[in-house]
Amino acid sequence: TKFSDLKLDPKVLKAIAEAGYETPTPIQAGAIPPALEGRDVLGIAQTGTGKTASFTLPMITLLGRGRARARMPRSLVLCPTRELAAQVAENFDIYAKHTKLTKALLIGGVSFGEQDKLIDRGVDVLIATPGRLLDHFERGKLLLTGVQIMVVDEADRMLDMGFIPDIERIFQLTPFTRQTLFFSATMAPEIERITNTFLHTPERIEV
Ligand code: AMP
Repeated sequence: TKFSDLKLDPKVLKAIAEAGYETPTPIQAGAIPPALEGRDVLGIAQTGTGKTASFTLPMITLLGRGRARARMPRSLVLCPTRELAAQVAENFDIYAKHTKLTKALLIGGVSFGEQDKLIDRGVDVLIATPGRLLDHFERGKLLLTGVQIMVVDEADRMLDMGFIPDIERIFQLTPFTRQTLFFSATMAPEIERITNTFLHTPERIEV
């Protein structure tokens, strides 16, 4: 498979060529086509396999040129740690550099004020840790009813950190019709249960 076979937005193809990527990794070749068709994806992959691009590239393509409304992000990426969320945000900036898509990073240790301002302006992509996301929601600053695409990254680490109840709550705050791209390095019974509950006939890709 070549990137050019993957039906990604030409602006995304340009950005990844500039980043020096030549061929998709196995998780990218497996996850990107069903994601672009609007299907749910269950990716079983370790970090270092290129999984960040496997959800970010189709997400950017699917969000296209739509416009975000105030307080209603169009997509959501949940990460277990601040560091990982910041890394996803950096990758998003690289892959989305030729688009006008906007993002906000919601992580602990940063004042609410700046984050509120970004959300108020409307963001296409919200990258967050679960606790901080729910803090904003409880403060009435955020609506998740406009979420079209939801990503859960490193679900096994979410489980280790006790975030599964938060993840379930967040799933319930998003529309039933959302598309979910869900990644975990392992499939513990609790992870299997969540995917059975919230994913709609996902394409399962194991690398
Ligand atoms: P990840 O598993 O998402 O953390 O990615 C691991 C590293 O591989 C990151 O530094 C990416 O920039 C890089 N990478 C991801 N996909 C590709 C690709 N198709 N070709 C070359 N490098 C890649």
